[in-house]
Amino acid sequence: MKTLQSKIDFLETEERWECLWEERGTYRYDWDDDSRPRYSIDTPPPYPSGDFHMGNVLNWTYFDIRARYKRMRGYNVHFPQGWDCHGLPTEVAVEKAYKIRRSDLPPDEFRKLCEEWIEQYIAKMKTAVVRLGVSIDWSLEYRTMEPSYMRKVQLSFLQLYEKGFIYKGEHPINYCPRCETAIADAEVERLSRTGKLYSVSFGVPGGELIIATTRPEYIPACVAIGVHPEDERYRRLIGKKATTPLFKKKIPIIAKDDVDTGFGTGAMMICTYGDKVDVVDVARFKLPVIKLIDAKGNMTEAAGKYMGLSVTEAREAMVDDLRAAGLLRDEKPLEQEVGTCWRCDTPIEVVSQLQWFMRTTALTDKVVEKAKEITWYPDWMRYRLIDWATSLDWDWVLSRQRVFATPVPAWYCKRCGEIHLAEPDELPVDPKVTKPRGRCARCGSSDFEPDRDVMDTWFDSSLTCAIHAGWPDRPDWRKLFPASIHPSGQDIIRTWAYYLMVRHLALFDETAYDSALTNGMVLGSDGRAMHKSLGNFVASPEVFDKYGSDAPRQWAAAGGSTGTDIPFRWEDVEYGRRFMVKLWNACRFASMRLEDYDPSAGAEPEPIDKWILSKLERTVRDATKAMEGCDFMNASEAARNFTWHVFCDHYLEAVKHRLYGEGSTKRAAQRTIHYAMKRQLQLLAPIIPHLTEEIYSTLYAEGPKDSIHTSRWPDADEALIDPEAERSGDLIIAVIGDVRREKNRLGIPLNRPVAKLIINVDSEEKLSDLMLGERDIAETTKAEEIELVRGAGGVEVEGHPGVGFTIETAA
Ligand SMILES: [Zn+2]
Ligand SMILES: [Zn+2]
Repeated sequence: MKTLQSKIDFLETEERWECLWEERGTYRYDWDDDSRPRYSIDTPPPYPSGDFHMGNVLNWTYFDIRARYKRMRGYNVHFPQGWDCHGLPTEVAVEKAYKIRRSDLPPDEFRKLCEEWIEQYIAKMKTAVVRLGVSIDWSLEYRTMEPSYMRKVQLSFLQLYEKGFIYKGEHPINYCPRCETAIADAEVERLSRTGKLYSVSFGVPGGELIIATTRPEYIPACVAIGVHPEDERYRRLIGKKATTPLFKKKIPIIAKDDVDTGFGTGAMMICTYGDKVDVVDVARFKLPVIKLIDAKGNMTEAAGKYMGLSVTEAREAMVDDLRAAGLLRDEKPLEQEVGTCWRCDTPIEVVSQLQWFMRTTALTDKVVEKAKEITWYPDWMRYRLIDWATSLDWDWVLSRQRVFATPVPAWYCKRCGEIHLAEPDELPVDPKVTKPRGRCARCGSSDFEPDRDVMDTWFDSSLTCAIHAGWPDRPDWRKLFPASIHPSGQDIIRTWAYYLMVRHLALFDETAYDSALTNGMVLGSDGRAMHKSLGNFVASPEVFDKYGSDAPRQWAAAGGSTGTDIPFRWEDVEYGRRFMVKLWNACRFASMRLEDYDPSAGAEPEPIDKWILSKLERTVRDATKAMEGCDFMNASEAARNFTWHVFCDHYLEAVKHRLYGEGSTKRAAQRTIHYAMKRQLQLLAPIIPHLTEEIYSTLYAEGPKDSIHTSRWPDADEALIDPEAERSGDLIIAVIGDVRREKNRLGIPLNRPVAKLIINVDSEEKLSDLMLGERDIAETTKAEEIELVRGAGGVEVEGHPGVGFTIETAA
């Protein structure tokens, strides 16, 4: 066996291997290999923000461990990496950076700025993914803004339209006035803030009715007043008309059994639309819809003299006017929850608009069914998806009024208004740039108006399971579909996991993925969610520059159980580094003692060899079970604890004397170490990929193509699991450890011989157990003579009642 060099620079080693793996194609997926089972990882294409924070480290480490483990189990692993380029964040960033609004430039020029902008972030993020040692097959890299990708997204749009899952219609939607676009339920965040509750006077027959509202600017769009049918205060008014303040419009007062009589005055405005409840009420009571807010978030002519004002301006102006007219009876602060745009935090408005929708609510039952069928790591995460799917009452609004996204492949006939969709072979197409082929199917006109909308970014990214597999171009794409595993953060189950599921169900009537692996959030050391503004934020370069990635990967794997939130702790990373030093030193020592190892020379294992082999196989069994269940914490703890606290601390110490000796007993120790070290490296390889490869390549590899990461994961050899060998070995090891500790306490150097070691035992069994290790005990404690005695006495051995010892220094 070759020996390891004396010094190692972890950072240099990691970088070297990252280059070598790519050069050698270690992680290439083989499209043509049918001999191995396939395993496809639906790597979520991240939005490249430029940051790769510790949350990303956790995320990527999880699915990389899974990929590496499956590869070692003999799978042909498909592990791609894409970048989700489109969408608001990039547009907002470009607008800020160039101090422009997107409408200042022609769409294609603005798009170009976005494309350039995102590339710099992709480069940064890719560097971080490589630096983390993720075993991506980079020949599969893609960007969702590429024409070939957009073609597939548009094709799926046409197919879903064909199947009746996509329609255009006027429905209430969430709208961000700042971003000037529709947004989906999943993009609405709930934000708590202090607003104001205004008490406003409405006219009613014989007096007034006070209504408390947080949105007085909606008075011009107030279409009814709701009161509880059993509310004695207002019963007499049901069926009568009220007069709105300032606008003097007559509106009906209706009985509404879900009015909260305890809120405000117990009477409420129904407006189009103050919120989602209004949407339900308008449909339920067949009320008219007044469009109060335009596409720029300003008041329409329905607001009369307030037309053109923003929502906030209109509120202030109306409150002033109400006050002046004596119609404002009270105003007080109110803690409220408002829906805000996920990207810019602007409060969203609910407006009725003509948009493209996907009929997702029709698929809720199927989503629930699939969520129950597939495997979840951890299991309870399935309810996140089920609860979200069943909470949705609106279809998915697909169209966005933005630029940097996949265009809707449609035109409209200028003469009759008929929708004209692109043909599949015209794709990808931007209808704003290209004229359609052919004529209007209804009236024969060839005069068309382009659809100016683009699609929700989630419509790009929720097709990855099929696209990764090679749909629609590879005839054999179903070999990789459904994806074997979909990994994601628990915070994006409602978006990523959900949209993937509905989309693939609608297109292929099949689950998108067979299993889902979920990671929790990373908390700062103060226990709060890591955030730049809280000062508890740690960026990955800071960690990588100091520790490389093998150490933080250990933090990610062992920091907490899968799916739970885990705090980032520098101590855990430091512990990981110390483990690596220990592993390196142990392997280096062993490699030097194994220089003359001859595998063909026979040797019978000694009792202490049987002991470590049994413990090892038990560890292999435990680690394998944990890995199978994506329980990375227990998989890494089992492997690290064995290596550090059993193999290094005890076994290597106990067999040192044999390694420095000669003959069969030396060969047995060498053979045991040779076997055990390789298996330990393999158990650690998915978690600590660089260092294990470095050691393996020197000590075990047969040729440069032989990588630990393509070696076979060990199967536990049950024949080696030997409870009796473990029982006797545990006792021998405990005695050795305690005698050495006692020598230390007595101030006797460990390597100074002692005249005699008397060991007292209380049973025949323990006596024979100890006899098996008499020589190991004598050699490691430097006892010139050992006397085994039946009966009590001496310093008690920890964890082994009935066993004691006495050290005699002089003869
Ligand atoms: Zn916004
Ligand atoms: Zn027409």
